[in-house]
Amino acid sequence: MVSERFFETEGILLRAVKTGERSRSLCFLTQNSGLLWVLARPDSRKTQSADFSCIPSKYHLYLYRTTGNRIYIRESSEKNPYRNIHRDYSKLKTSLHILSPLVKIVQPGASDEFLFKLSDRAFSAIDSSDSEIAALLLVPPYLAILAKHFGFGFPLDSCKKCGSSDVRSISSSEGGFLCAACSDKIFDSKSADAKLLQMTMTSEERKRILSFTGKKTLVALIKSLELYLFDQFSKNTPDIYL
Ligand SMILES: [Zn+2]
Repeated sequence: MVSERFFETEGILLRAVKTGERSRSLCFLTQNSGLLWVLARPDSRKTQSADFSCIPSKYHLYLYRTTGNRIYIRESSEKNPYRNIHRDYSKLKTSLHILSPLVKIVQPGASDEFLFKLSDRAFSAIDSSDSEIAALLLVPPYLAILAKHFGFGFPLDSCKKCGSSDVRSISSSEGGFLCAACSDKIFDSKSADAKLLQMTMTSEERKRILSFTGKKTLVALIKSLELYLFDQFSKNTPDIYL
């Protein structure tokens, strides 16, 4: 935990809660201080210049910690508003599937630069994607990397129980993919296209499969991976229609 009174960091705005006429409590995923709740002071002219209404968007933040351990924004400058996400409703919906695990799973306080960079890359890639499918293709690899980052990683090409390479489903309780025979006996197995997940893992493959990947298959994979990830933290999956 950073203990200086004045500090600065880059941060991606994930949530904004109105606490008064002009004051807001803001949740940022920061580069140096993990998930951080900060207050935008209503009487600060500099803070007023940013209205913090576009979620997600990235700022450089100059922060001040009071003796009572409250953190205020002294100044901020916009680094990346992910402008196209806020112009295109389908991109916004897709980006909420990047944002949701950050808000629900990440614990405040722990510094996590990897997570900051991973989510910044995901938001930027959705922002600059050319189509709805291209944006959606970014979500499965993000969820798989996130699961691994939090210690719930799994092999993408073999059954968690028997090692068979013919995997069909994913199970939260078994911690990975299962073959057809094994998934029959597992109550929480959900069908999931492991081959598709493998193909989404690199940008070259994503480009290659772009033209023939169906939205329905992709959304089903995203739902199964979200269920897997959120189950590990005993949280409900995001209720965001894709
Ligand atoms: Zn098996």
